Amino acid sequence: MSTTSEWILGFADRALAAEARLTSYDQAAGDGDFGGNIAGAVKLVQTELAGLPTAASAGDVLSATAAVFLDRVGGTSGPLFGLLFQALAKSTGTELTADALVEGIAAGLAAIQRVGEAEVGDKTLVDALSPAADAVRALGPGASLPEALKAAAAAAEKGARSTEGIRARRGRASYVGDHAVGVPDPGAVTIALLFDTAG
Ligand code: ADP
Ligand code: MG
Ligand code: MG
Repeated sequence: MSTTSEWILGFADRALAAEARLTSYDQAAGDGDFGGNIAGAVKLVQTELAGLPTAASAGDVLSATAAVFLDRVGGTSGPLFGLLFQALAKSTGTELTADALVEGIAAGLAAIQRVGEAEVGDKTLVDALSPAADAVRALGPGASLPEALKAAAAAAEKGARSTEGIRARRGRASYVGDHAVGVPDPGAVTIALLFDTAG
């Protein structure tokens, strides 16, 4: 099994373990479907990856993941995570490398911002993904993939924590004003789970 499918299947496990917590955040600040949307998505991803041939490339794993999120998952989060996986698939060949991660995160962030128009500070997943993009870019050439994932995870976790104290300016959480303050953005928390291969 490739490193990439281990990474994505690890994310599936972490997202399933966090489902109730993610639901509670979206109940407080949105419509409560986030945990179910993500859990449903990663279960489909588990099935899709199990069906791939053993010779599947890292790019194939990421393309199959992107297709699930883009075509089969509801909510706002499905298509937005789909754009990130699609960009990662495009930057990745046979093996996922730190350089491919740098390029894929940057392209995924750009695509998500083109569609959703969120900036850092709007209390969305951009608050975790944008610092992750900066952190991996700052490593420079020669970084290993584990180093790059670790840097992305630390930056994304810090970004996700920063969403707790602010009001939302995008997405459903923006409808509830101050009620969302004190609750982290579930999309940002999930971006941190994606990169957190240690936990
Ligand atoms: P919905 O609000 O349609 O129920 P989900 O609950 O599936 O969607 O996803 C909500 C998540 O989507 C939020 O936590 C936030 O991170 C993300 N999100 C919402 N709107 C935007 C946006 N315009 N740009 C980036 N991310 C967004
Ligand atoms: Mg929701
Ligand atoms: Mg919804």
